Amino acid sequence: MGNIAYLYKDNLYLNITNKCCVRCSYCIKYRWNKLFRGYNLGLNGEPTVEEVKKELKRFLNSNVKIKEIVFCGYGEPLLRYNVVKEISLWVKNKFPQYKIRVNTNGLASAYTKVNICKELSGIIDSICISLNAHNEEVYLRLHKTSIKHPFRAIINFIKQAIKYIPVVTVTAIKHPLVDIAKVKKITEKLGVRFRTRRYLTSYESR
Ligand code: SF4
Repeated sequence: MGNIAYLYKDNLYLNITNKCCVRCSYCIKYRWNKLFRGYNLGLNGEPTVEEVKKELKRFLNSNVKIKEIVFCGYGEPLLRYNVVKEISLWVKNKFPQYKIRVNTNGLASAYTKVNICKELSGIIDSICISLNAHNEEVYLRLHKTSIKHPFRAIINFIKQAIKYIPVVTVTAIKHPLVDIAKVKKITEKLGVRFRTRRYLTSYESR
């Protein structure tokens, strides 16, 4: 089994699945052979709630400085939204001093047909949604998915996130095909925070 929890830049990240409802052309899961800055994020199976809690306890009961707990990893965490819910509620109860964030591709609601943002209401503190395109056409050029109109689906997901989650940030990768100024405009119209992400190519060990 690879790493379920890993530390990076003051945050504790949780890697609860390798499954994803989209294949991004720039995904470092494939480019970096499931490695991430010295960690192996390749899971043999999906960790159980108890296995994730055990890992969390190991870090949260230590003296390591942790700013935020983030569901992220090499897969879409919200495909396991019930696990995200259960673990987050447990953290809020046992370690209320920690903020919880979810990093997502924004497509899990369209995939599962469940309003996941509503499910997470009052449970997580913030959400970071990857939009990674300024329109449907560019999105489809960079991403492969069985979901119809994925760009539209992500915008709908953002609107639900605004309703139910206190802090919503939309991100876009600095890819030559992505017009960052246009993505920024979309986020301004939606009234959410915006930040860019680096376009990563060759493996970085740290
Ligand atoms: S959403 Fe994330 S894990 Fe899934 S393919 Fe895209 S970059 Fe990779």
